[in-house]
Amino acid sequence: MIDLRSDTVTRPSPAMREAMAQAEVGDDVFGEDPTVNRLQDMAARLLGKEAALFVPSGTMANQLSVRLHTRPGDEIIVEAGAHVVRYESGAAAGLSGVQTCWLPGTRGILQPEQIDAAIRPPDYHNPPTTLICLENTHNRGGGTIYPLDRIGAIRKVAEARGIALHLDGARLFNAVVATGIPATEYARHFETVSFCLSKGLGAPVGSLICADKERVVKLRRLRKMFGGGMRQAGILAAAGLYALDHNIARLAEDHTHAKRLAATLAQLPGVTIDPAHVETNIVVFDISETRRTADEVLAALKAEGLLLVPFSPTTLRAVTHLDASSDHVEQACAILKNVFTRLAA
Ligand SMILES: *Cc1c(COP(=O)(O)O)cnc(C)c1O
Repeated sequence: MIDLRSDTVTRPSPAMREAMAQAEVGDDVFGEDPTVNRLQDMAARLLGKEAALFVPSGTMANQLSVRLHTRPGDEIIVEAGAHVVRYESGAAAGLSGVQTCWLPGTRGILQPEQIDAAIRPPDYHNPPTTLICLENTHNRGGGTIYPLDRIGAIRKVAEARGIALHLDGARLFNAVVATGIPATEYARHFETVSFCLSKGLGAPVGSLICADKERVVKLRRLRKMFGGGMRQAGILAAAGLYALDHNIARLAEDHTHAKRLAATLAQLPGVTIDPAHVETNIVVFDISETRRTADEVLAALKAEGLLLVPFSPTTLRAVTHLDASSDHVEQACAILKNVFTRLAA
């Protein structure tokens, strides 16, 4: 079975497992796990922030950031497809008591004017707008890269209105590798930046939040409150260090594979996709012209050995990753050709 449902399906390699087995550990709730501390230092350095905090998931990284920047009754501005409101089980409302303002983006990307217009004027009828969250790359947008000048323009709006910016950078390194723009250049526009080790970087568990020292102290306390304090977490952090040392540059291969899939899909009957929109490792395509539901097409692909996920009743998503070799991608292309040609017949 070729599994392109998500880049979360990657399994730790033998060398990564070896690094985990060798990890020096201590109690991280006491701040005494040397491997966690090394990972946090490395993450902070990579993003050009003073400090970083290791957390169990990207969801926790986002939600700790929401909690940090807001008070109950505040409003946060997000893009309508953002992970922080679409895939986190209502956590912003449930755990931070904030309401969310969803703005429609173009493949996930917002305009500064849109954000400026959505910020609430100070009036006691209004919830205070206290946070803007951006996502880079944007998952539901199809792996879209946030243009750096757009981020800069949004930063100006946020600063002028005294509002914090959080970056959900679950796949920030995909943007870094695709553009050649250093992570620090993206990160400097945000008070808090999160990224995932457990996606294309290939670690089994974990995310980091990077910020200034004072905010990281507060985040550390909130992490305890949310139940995310871990003990001998160095075993997991060792996988993260291995991932940052070995698996960043190779994300370029995943991008090449995604473009290969997109070029194949663009030729197939019943499929609509603009290959120019495939910027990183995510391929979203429309199947409405097959007149089949996403579930029917997924079942036909699965029967031939290819797993994808539905993104809507008429769109599917494929994600390339560390455990999908060029051979796997060629096989996936052959399966897509067979299935869509048959459905059209
Ligand atoms: C995967 C992902 C997250 C975090 O997901 P977890 O499964 O909680 O680690 C956050 N944001 C985006 C954009 C993601 O793709």
